[in-house]
This record gives sequence, structure tokens and C-alpha cells, in this order.
Amino acid sequence: MSGENREKYYRNLKEFFDFLFPQVCVFCGNYVEDFSDFGSICEKCRKKVADEFFGGFMDNVNGIERVWYVGIYRSFLKECINKFKFFGELTLGNFLGKVLYEVILRNPLKFDVITYVPLHRKKLISRGYNQAKIVANFVGQRSDIKCEKLLKKVKNNLPQSSVGAVKREKNVKGVFDLLKEKKLPQSVLIVDDVYTTGSTLRECCRLLKKRGVSNVYGGVLALDYLL
Ligand SMILES: [Zn+2]
Repeated sequence: MSGENREKYYRNLKEFFDFLFPQVCVFCGNYVEDFSDFGSICEKCRKKVADEFFGGFMDNVNGIERVWYVGIYRSFLKECINKFKFFGELTLGNFLGKVLYEVILRNPLKFDVITYVPLHRKKLISRGYNQAKIVANFVGQRSDIKCEKLLKKVKNNLPQSSVGAVKREKNVKGVFDLLKEKKLPQSVLIVDDVYTTGSTLRECCRLLKKRGVSNVYGGVLALDYLL
């Protein structure tokens, strides 16, 4: 192959590769030229991530030893979670999982197993995936801690987001159960997407502690507050 032809060959190959694996921003889909450690995020979105994905934790809430969160369920973070949860943007789940893992690392506590808030079978069929499981798996891979299903959802209740603050606790009562055959570890991290009144995590935590788990932690993508 002549030099000129070779150049052309590689140029075509690169174009084909870009076509197969476009370097697009995980958040907005814009073309990204440079990849940083952060993954493919455009300049504009990188700024929003820095502003809103600040991360933090709360101790001793709803019987849970510590709950880590990425940010507040508003503006850009809310948009990301909704795209991931309702519109099948699964790469965002990996990214959010990566950030949650980094938030946990800043103020870590030891846990033996990572689990997630389960979906009811019917919900899982209609959505096609459990968003909390995707995040939990990602945190598990990064931290090298086993991620496993410990809970199941036995009642298909109304989504917590459609229920007012007062009724939320009642709405989750008795909707979860433990997988009977599983031997439970000493400490568990439960992953969920949005923490509002904390009723869902509290109910999961209650079941785990009843069966002898000593420490239960929560890892959520966002905190929401009801006005
Ligand atoms: Zn972007």
C-alpha cells in the first residue's frame, strides 16, 4: 500500500470506529473530543456535575447507620436520574454509580454485602431493568464487594412518588420480604435511587435487622424533600 493509500485507509478506519463507538457525552449526547478520567463528558455537563454532584451523608436516620447521597433531587441531577430510570439511559446509571462510590469512599464505613431495593416482578417486566440494581452492581464492581439480592418485593404498591408524605410509610408496610434461603451478613449497604421520607429504606432496614444484621447503610443517588 502506498503512503497516501495507507493514510486514507487509516482515516477511513478511524471514521468507521467513531461511527461504531461515538465519543458522545453521557449526559447530553454532544460530541466530546477529549476523554478525561471522568469519562466522556462535555465541558458544559462537567461544570454541572461539579456544581450538583457534591455528595454527602447523614447518620442515624430511620434506624440506618449512615446514608450517603450524591446530591439533591433537583435540576441537572434530577434530569440525569429520570433519564436513567424512565428512559433507559443505562450508561448514566454506571456514571451515577461511579460518583456514588466516590462519595462513599470519602467517608467510608465497612460493609460486607451490597444489595438494592427490589422491584416487583410486574414492574421489572414493564421497565426491563431495576435502576437500583444497576447502580449497586457498579458500586460492587468498583469496591470489590459482593452485590447480591437479599430482598424481594411481594406487593406491587403505588410508587412512593405518587403518595403524599403521611401515607408513604403505610404504602411500604409489608411490601418487601427477605429471600428466605439467604444467610445474612453482619453489615449491608442498600442502594436506592431517591430518598424522600426514607420509608422505603427504613422498611428494608427493619427486615434485615430483624433477621440479625447489625449495621445497615444506605447509598442513594439523590435526596428529595417534600414541600
Ligand atoms: Zn454534555
